[in-house]
Amino acid sequence: MIERYIEFLGLDETIELLKANERPLTPSIRINTLKIKVNELKKRLENKGFELEPIEWVPYGFKVAKEPHNLGSLHEFLQGYYYLQSKVSMLPAYILDPKPNEVVIDMCAAPGGKSTHLAQIMENNGTLILIERNRKRIPALEVNLRRMGITNSILINLDAINIGKLTLKADKILLDAPCTGEGLIRQDFSRKKSKSLSDIKKMANVQKKLLISGLNALKPRGKLLYSTCSIAPEENEIVIDHVLKKNPAFIIDKITYQYGVKGLTKVYGENLMNDLSKAQRFYPHFHDTIGFFICLISKST
Ligand code: SAM
Repeated sequence: MIERYIEFLGLDETIELLKANERPLTPSIRINTLKIKVNELKKRLENKGFELEPIEWVPYGFKVAKEPHNLGSLHEFLQGYYYLQSKVSMLPAYILDPKPNEVVIDMCAAPGGKSTHLAQIMENNGTLILIERNRKRIPALEVNLRRMGITNSILINLDAINIGKLTLKADKILLDAPCTGEGLIRQDFSRKKSKSLSDIKKMANVQKKLLISGLNALKPRGKLLYSTCSIAPEENEIVIDHVLKKNPAFIIDKITYQYGVKGLTKVYGENLMNDLSKAQRFYPHFHDTIGFFICLISKST
C-alpha cells in the first residue's frame, strides 16, 4: 500500500499522510434543515456545552470541537435534527445539487448519509429513488430516513448494475461506490491491513460496471457524481478513464469550487484523460478529513 502511495504522492507526502492517519478525526454534523433552523440547533447544542465550528464548504455543516456528551445519544439526534457525517461526505450531494422537481437516484444508498442529504437539498420534493443491494443494510437506511423526516424517497433492494431494468431516466445520479475504504484508516485502523491489491482489482471491476449502468440511466444533460472513500487511483481516476474513453457522450464537469486537490492525469506511468484534473481528491494530511474522491460527469445530449 505504501509503495503505491509513494508512486503518486512522493515520499515526503506519503509520510505526512501516514502521520495524519494516526490522528483522531474531529466529529462533524450536518444540520437537517428539513426539521430545524441552523441557528436554533446551534444554540441548543451550545447551551448543552458543545462547541461548534463552521465547515467552510457547506453552510449547515459544523465541526464539533467540544463534545461533552455523546453526539449519538442526544434528544436532538433522535429527533433527526442532525446527521453525524464527515465534512467531505457532505460534498457529493451538495455538489450534485439536485432540484426539488427532479428525478434523482442514489445507486448505493445505505445507511443513508448522502440519501438524506439529497432529500434535504430537494426540500423533500421531487422523486428520490434509493437503491441498495444488501438487504441487511436496509433497516439502518429506513431508520435514518424516518429519523430525518424524509418523505420523497422510494427504496429498492436491487443490484444497481441492473438499474436499466427500472427503465427510468434520472436528472441526477449519485454513485457513492462500494470501495476498499482505503481513505477510512483514520476511523478504522484495521483497514491498514485488511485489503489487498486483489481486493482493489475486484472493487474496480464492480465500480466500472456500476458507473456504466449509472451513466446509461441519465437523461440528456443529466449529471452523475461519482465518489469513493478511497484514495486508490485504481478505484477512482482509472475507473473513470476506462469508462469515459469508451463512452464519448459523457464528459467530466469542472466543479465550481476547488475544495480538494486536482485528480490525477498520470499514474503508475500511465497517461489518463486530461479532464481528470477536474476531479477532486481529499487527503487526511491536507484537508483534515478522511481520504475521499469526487468526480462530476455529465451527459452531453
Ligand atoms: N452512500 C452511503 C452513505 O452515504 O451513507 C454509503 C454507501 S457505501 C459506500 C456503499 C453501499 O453500496 C453499501 O451499502 C453496499 O451494500 C452497497 N452496494 C454495494 N454494491 C452494490 C450494488 N451492486 N448495487 C447496489 N448497492 C450496492
